Amino acid sequence: MSKKQGIGTRCVQAGYNPGKGEPRHIPIYQSTTFKYETSDQMGRLFDLEDSGYFYTRLQNPTNDIVATQLANLEGGVAGMLTSSGQAANLFACLNLCSAGDHIVSAGNIYGGTFNLLGTTLPKMGIEVTFINPDDDEQTINAAFRPNTKLLFGESLSNPGVEVLDIEKFARIAHSHGVPLVVDNTFPTPVNLRPIEWGADIVTHSTTKYLDGHGVAVGGALIDSGNFDWEAHTDKFPGLTTPDESYHGLIYTKAFGKLAFITKATSQLMRDLGSIQSPQNAFYLHLGIQSLHVRMQRHCQSAQQVAEFLVNHPDVAWVKFPGLPGDSQYDKAKKYLPNGSSGVLCLGLKGGRDFDNHFMDSLRLVTIETHVADCHTCILHPASHTHRQLSDAQLRAAGIDPGLMRLSIGLEDPEDIIDDLRQALEAAHV
Ligand SMILES: *Cc1c(COP(=O)(O)O)cnc(C)c1O
Repeated sequence: MSKKQGIGTRCVQAGYNPGKGEPRHIPIYQSTTFKYETSDQMGRLFDLEDSGYFYTRLQNPTNDIVATQLANLEGGVAGMLTSSGQAANLFACLNLCSAGDHIVSAGNIYGGTFNLLGTTLPKMGIEVTFINPDDDEQTINAAFRPNTKLLFGESLSNPGVEVLDIEKFARIAHSHGVPLVVDNTFPTPVNLRPIEWGADIVTHSTTKYLDGHGVAVGGALIDSGNFDWEAHTDKFPGLTTPDESYHGLIYTKAFGKLAFITKATSQLMRDLGSIQSPQNAFYLHLGIQSLHVRMQRHCQSAQQVAEFLVNHPDVAWVKFPGLPGDSQYDKAKKYLPNGSSGVLCLGLKGGRDFDNHFMDSLRLVTIETHVADCHTCILHPASHTHRQLSDAQLRAAGIDPGLMRLSIGLEDPEDIIDDLRQALEAAHV
């Protein structure tokens, strides 16, 4: 075996190895359907006896190139692309849970995922208990029930940029016979690979750094192949007992380590149809090819901006895992030695009006419901993304009502700092 290539090389090349005369860049298979020669050939696909493409609602070759690349980057065995990060987290849950089941999740997660787990899944009969990820193992253990099917957390929480103690979470999940699902959107596999620390399933909003330019909404689901479903047959009947919609096929028996992703593709994608368009998969692939270079710059610039802000008299506090003294600093040194992401949070001293005046005075930094792309942008969750949550719910989700989320882009850090400085001055007028 040759030495495993570096993450940068794999960002550029993994998943696609064209032959003689083939396109250097991945082709976009802009086709809903695929041709076969005999009725039997087509029939075997529908029985999952042969693998192959038949309809882009389930699978498309462009998507599979990029899903294979992401699985490679994360150190997993297989992946799939979804239409959004929301769909990726939904699929991770529905691939393991049915009505009557239960999920334990960190409480400090992205607002959209908080709503999915806290509001929509309960309507489908799946209950969720939110826990404080910093609680000790005994306290977190107490949230588990016999019908718990997974433990969920974000490797770097959005927007609070808190680092998940993945080893602790993996230990807890495995002691209850369930997989750990980690949303790795913010660090990306360049800065952190949760599977190396014991996570079983990794999800992504590829809309963020993986795309990196703010052009394509998308998501991804990656399986480590490490979780032994058959050791817990009673918990995961969907994977270990016959699927009558495929003539009684058993995913773990037929597909081994590929069982989880095969079930998500052939059952959930078939029935729920949340696939990423091949065009968006192409944009995503373009983004991934420079991911390693961009992440380094995002992290370095965010470090400079965080150091500027923490010393500014109008700034009450800054949260950035790379600042010595930050509550996340020690965990970041362990899990994110090359940097966390370009996202930081801050609170100002002047109150709500000052906050608004500051945001309205920014010129280069724009107000956007986005994060983690090449443009520097700012968002005030209490007024924008999380406005449906009360102050108490915000605090429960680890969000200070005065918190502003700043996502440092790829502009020159000096220009970003100049803009923040002038807007802080202008807010006084
Ligand atoms: C944005 C985001 C999501 C949701 O992804 P979409 O692509 O917007 O559906 C999920 N998790 C995290 C951590 C996110 O930042």
